[in-house]
Amino acid sequence: MIHLKNSAQISAMKDAGRITGEALLIARDMVRPGVSTYEIDREIRRYIEKCGATPTFLGYGGFPASACISINDEVIHGIPSKKRILQEGDIVKIDTGATYHGYVGDSARTIPVGTVSEEAARLIQATRDSFWAGIDALQVGNRLGDVGSAIDTLVRSHGFSTVKRYVGHGVGTEMHESPDVPNFGTPGRGIRLCAGMTLAIEPMVNVGTCEVQELSDGWTVKTLDGKLSAHYENTVALTSEGVLILTEVEKGF
Ligand code: MG
Ligand code: MG
Repeated sequence: MIHLKNSAQISAMKDAGRITGEALLIARDMVRPGVSTYEIDREIRRYIEKCGATPTFLGYGGFPASACISINDEVIHGIPSKKRILQEGDIVKIDTGATYHGYVGDSARTIPVGTVSEEAARLIQATRDSFWAGIDALQVGNRLGDVGSAIDTLVRSHGFSTVKRYVGHGVGTEMHESPDVPNFGTPGRGIRLCAGMTLAIEPMVNVGTCEVQELSDGWTVKTLDGKLSAHYENTVALTSEGVLILTEVEKGF
């Protein structure tokens, strides 16, 4: 069942979204060669708790940290560790969430570590652009397949591939609510979009194959071919006046 939110509920989600977005800005500003993913996670947690919010990921399904931090060919769900040290040329995906007054924000970014390859830079840009292509299609009266198709079409226009095994989702009082929001689809198909839907739109884009594998740690998901992957996610609200990007606190990031 899809839980539609009224304007008061969307307003509460704005607060959770802002805290989530601000935590990602702090994380971004820490990204440089030599920093561990543990340190980034620690500062994310510190900021979220300072705001009076709860790190949504911590303990979710047993996840041991406040952010998923995934490097290079890791797609999602990387576990922060003192042993994972960022290196010049890496790309790092930081995905986090904050729960505030009962509502959840969920957002992710891919950040270059120092100077990255031309291919890595193109991948990061295309992944972000695919999110915005999806947002263009996120209109009352359209269908969910219009959104997924817009994302996938943009990704394929760059010669990259869209991960199919993991998808976006509804978000609200729970991090994962109905509906699933695939990053692919058929225009005109799927459920009809209506005002009050709050969704995490989150393209995961690979340089090579779309196939992925889960590692034996039970969490980390990697590309099957070892090539790079990028992720870009915002929690958004569809209203009769248009789309609100609840976790975006700095334009262009
Ligand atoms: Mg997320
Ligand atoms: Mg999500």
